[in-house]
Amino acid sequence: MTAKQSAMIERRRKLLGSAYKLFYDNPVHIVKGEGVWLYDADGRKYLDMYNNVPHVGHCHPHVVEALTKQIATLNTHTRYLHENILEYAERLTGKFEDELDLAMFCCTGSEANELAMRIARTHTGGTGFIATSFAYHGNSRATFEITTSDIPEDERPDYIATAPVPDPYRGLYTGPDAGEKYAAHVREAIETLERRGVKPAAFIIDTIASSGGVVSPPPGYLSAVAEIIRDAGALFIADEVQPGFGRTGRNFWGYQADGFVPDIVTMGKPMGNGHPLAGMVTRSGIVEEFAAKGRYFNTFGGNPVSCAAGLAVLDVLEQEELQQNALDVGQYLVDGLWSLAEQHEVIGDVRGSGFFLGLELVEDRERKTPATALTKRVLNELRERGLLTGPIGPDANILKLRCPMVFTRENADQALDTIDRALAACLH
Ligand code: PMP
Repeated sequence: MTAKQSAMIERRRKLLGSAYKLFYDNPVHIVKGEGVWLYDADGRKYLDMYNNVPHVGHCHPHVVEALTKQIATLNTHTRYLHENILEYAERLTGKFEDELDLAMFCCTGSEANELAMRIARTHTGGTGFIATSFAYHGNSRATFEITTSDIPEDERPDYIATAPVPDPYRGLYTGPDAGEKYAAHVREAIETLERRGVKPAAFIIDTIASSGGVVSPPPGYLSAVAEIIRDAGALFIADEVQPGFGRTGRNFWGYQADGFVPDIVTMGKPMGNGHPLAGMVTRSGIVEEFAAKGRYFNTFGGNPVSCAAGLAVLDVLEQEELQQNALDVGQYLVDGLWSLAEQHEVIGDVRGSGFFLGLELVEDRERKTPATALTKRVLNELRERGLLTGPIGPDANILKLRCPMVFTRENADQALDTIDRALAACLH
């Protein structure tokens, strides 16, 4: 580590406190981004396989132009008429099934989930929420209470219940009926709430469970849960903060893998390509009680600049056919990673779809013992070799691969070669 890095780390500790964490034993000091590349202060180039926020690539010129044009003209709140919010709401709801026809905007995924939770409570009259057992949904008080990855079970309020992450690799069930069996746990969670005298308001899940280990729920799981939760008079909230906007390649939204329509869909991260834009989409009827009881105001949410960014992201996704790119190059990566698994026993599983992939490292394939310490070494080794990714899962033994959507086959070849060499260096 250079003297400059050490000095910056010390300044951070003093100025920001120790709750702020850094990646890597040798933290990176990034000063510039372009497409799939990040550049450090010494001009060294890193292939970005971690950041899903710069969805259409770091500093995409079309998004930069849209942002700068609008900020040079006007930025203000949503209590004046403005075309941008209307055009964006139209384009965004156009990406959903017809019944999801209303959009509301905010600045972060936490705010989007918080708003969805408030609306679900008002609409159903319930107060309880069911989340999966190792989930991240935000940093506000209500969303932190369903952030089951960070809040120990005995510290959760009695209006929160959990269902297991529907993990078909290491979880409770595998095989063709895994979806149904996992869904039955949501019924149990409803019963748990009811035993405590709590009426459920909603079930919430990120439709590829990211913190749970980049887990794609088994087929039939999401739609079966939707039926169970609606039978209990509650809503299904799909948290699309990570899988949304075409990332999974097959569909524009993660939930569409299971052919059903949620009641509320929340989104954020990639929506403004780095500009803080988030929101939720629902059926207009669901917001009626909420609107009758009061107003919704968010100083920055849905402002003309944010909406210009959101519109530009949709333009690029469509014009550059990036969902298709995620499908093609994502599959190429999956095939390449499985080929690496032939040489590296430590690869236990490769999963996900499009550019939302998980590479699970295990000490032995039969027992699936998580290779947690090795994963940390591999991540540091990859960083030294110019590839950025991050750990995920309850045992932090999964490499989360979520590159910008403009990642090419050539980038994939480089990534596969780097992963191959990093694994070899750490294992031998
Ligand atoms: N939901 C999911 C699935 C997330 O991954 C995150 C962020 N990691 C959030 C919600 C919260 O988003 P934000 O950090 O923008 O508040």
